[in-house]
Amino acid sequence: MSDPGPTPEISLMVPLYNEEGNVEPLLDRIAQVMSALGRTYEVVLVDDGSTDRTVALLKKAVTERPHLRVVFFRRNSGQTSALAAAIDHARGEILIPLDGDLQNDPGDIPVLLGKLAEGYDVVSGWRKNRKDPFFTRTLPSKLANGLISLISGVKLHDYGCTLKAYRREVIKPVVLVGEMHRFIPILASWQGARVTEVVVNHHPRVSGKSKYGLMRTFKVVLDLLTIKFLGSFLTKPIYAFGGAGVILFGFSFLLALYTLWEKFFEVPTVWVHRNPVFLVAIFFALAGMQLIMMGLLGELLIRIYFASSQTTPYVVREVMESKKVRSEE
Ligand code: UDP
Ligand code: MG
Repeated sequence: MSDPGPTPEISLMVPLYNEEGNVEPLLDRIAQVMSALGRTYEVVLVDDGSTDRTVALLKKAVTERPHLRVVFFRRNSGQTSALAAAIDHARGEILIPLDGDLQNDPGDIPVLLGKLAEGYDVVSGWRKNRKDPFFTRTLPSKLANGLISLISGVKLHDYGCTLKAYRREVIKPVVLVGEMHRFIPILASWQGARVTEVVVNHHPRVSGKSKYGLMRTFKVVLDLLTIKFLGSFLTKPIYAFGGAGVILFGFSFLLALYTLWEKFFEVPTVWVHRNPVFLVAIFFALAGMQLIMMGLLGELLIRIYFASSQTTPYVVREVMESKKVRSEE
């Protein structure tokens, strides 16, 4: 990164893994759309450890074409990591990720920008007319989208669509791992961003093949669990674990009382320690104690987490200061 030049308004971000047939048509199409738009831009391309001619084509493109910035990974690290790297290297005020296989249409970029100009912070693409195999991709994705929208409370139709547009300040604090990139609008919305969606085009893949199948939906559901947990309890793990722990203690207490009642009023011949209900009470008490301890450990962890990262448990929109000078000065 020698002379970085002036900061562009818009950064397009494209992950590429073995997309040799798509690199050039994609760059042509992007150049066509962006030059018609007349705003300053850059294209951050991330080669996610391709083993075909993608690397060579990107090296050639970066010497021949303007506006490009290419990051090469040593090995394949997945689409989310590629996107995270693209975010780290992007300098624009508006960040727009899109797939490198031309399934997303760069022609939709002006529509996304229009929505941002209306005052939104995140505009998510909705592939209303999706061109992917029905049973392995489109149907599971529909179900997953319903679930995500229910659990997150952020109502979008198509979280999985890569084509989205973000204002830089809402995307920078987000930590990306696993299949998390689809949850950025949710994380951003939880942090107070204004989120909307627009219908975008979707094309069948012309060259190369998809890297995903049904398994992806399972990963997405597990990631959903993680973000829900982090979203609700990151700052207060003791409420989640401790809460469950206290409930178990409550059960344990009631069961212990029941054992005593049985001993004195029902079957005095059965000793308390021979009564299986008493064992269950002990089990609940132990489990409850463990959960409370886990909650305390969690509290310790989040203190380390916030102290060791730049993250804060709150989000500031703006800080204002009065201009008036104090009277004694
Ligand atoms: N991709 C990547 N690393 C991976 C898998 C995929 O960078 O490990 C890129 C891929 O080159 C494409 C985008 O992510 O630009 C979406 O991948 P794909 O088209 O396989 O997904 P689908 O459209 O089938 O959901
Ligand atoms: Mg694709």
